[in-house]
Amino acid sequence: MRICRFDNDRLGVIIGDRVHDVSGAQDEIRKAAPYDMRGDAVIAALPQWRARLEGMAAAAPGRPLSQVRLLAPVARPSKVMGAPTNYRKHIEEMNHVAEAHVGGVRRFSTDIGEAGIFLKANSSLVGPSEGVPIRFPERRNDHEIELVLIIGKQGSRIPREQALDHVAGYSLGLDMTVRGPQDRSFRKSCDGYSVLGPWIVTADEIADPDNVPLSLSVNGETRQDTNTSYLIYDIRRLIEFASEYYTLYPGDVYYTGTPEGVGPVKPGDTMRGRSAPMLGELEVAVRA
Ligand code: MN
Repeated sequence: MRICRFDNDRLGVIIGDRVHDVSGAQDEIRKAAPYDMRGDAVIAALPQWRARLEGMAAAAPGRPLSQVRLLAPVARPSKVMGAPTNYRKHIEEMNHVAEAHVGGVRRFSTDIGEAGIFLKANSSLVGPSEGVPIRFPERRNDHEIELVLIIGKQGSRIPREQALDHVAGYSLGLDMTVRGPQDRSFRKSCDGYSVLGPWIVTADEIADPDNVPLSLSVNGETRQDTNTSYLIYDIRRLIEFASEYYTLYPGDVYYTGTPEGVGPVKPGDTMRGRSAPMLGELEVAVRA
């Protein structure tokens, strides 16, 4: 199943190239959710609601995808995580960027096991229709296309053998970055610097998350092109690793790392992320 949020905080199920409004389910789920719950109520409810959502979608008239404004498919993640330096060729290209070093010393270990996972501000999360507003046009603002996991089931110290049981689904994401000397979480948390979408594909539709193609073009020119089979920490290890440190909650968003080909964008550019057909195309305008 493919699930999106669109227009004015509406919930949709996508069938073919049409969006079927199932916001009635969203209202009911949110009303029943305790205020102090950790995580996103709608993502948490997906397993119990799946059959009903499919029924509602089949009964609702569809609108063409091209006529809706797609928002981030998760409204309220408890956290947004990011894996750094998780493709070997990206590590090699970063070794040539001067800002990677301060006083001749590398700022971060390029070993993900040593460096750990970083967090991005939840307030940076947007959907493709919102675009990325460049906060510091005088600095270098880079695109990072990534496969993104949406956590579906709460868990802490999750063993790798059980890791995929905790995944609700997958999306495409852009982990936008302002280059500079500040802490990574600061530079990657500007408003709009975490793009997610165009929808969530539920985990049952992705046979092997460690074999998903991933590419990004800017104004029609391919900049990044890889497959998650090149990940240093694979999907199971990423889940195991993060959950060694903190509990994962339904709706948590997890950027899995970007491949080589990272480069700058400026207002007026159009970024287009592509993957397996089910994951769709993430078309995002860079704006002032
Ligand atoms: Mn990244």
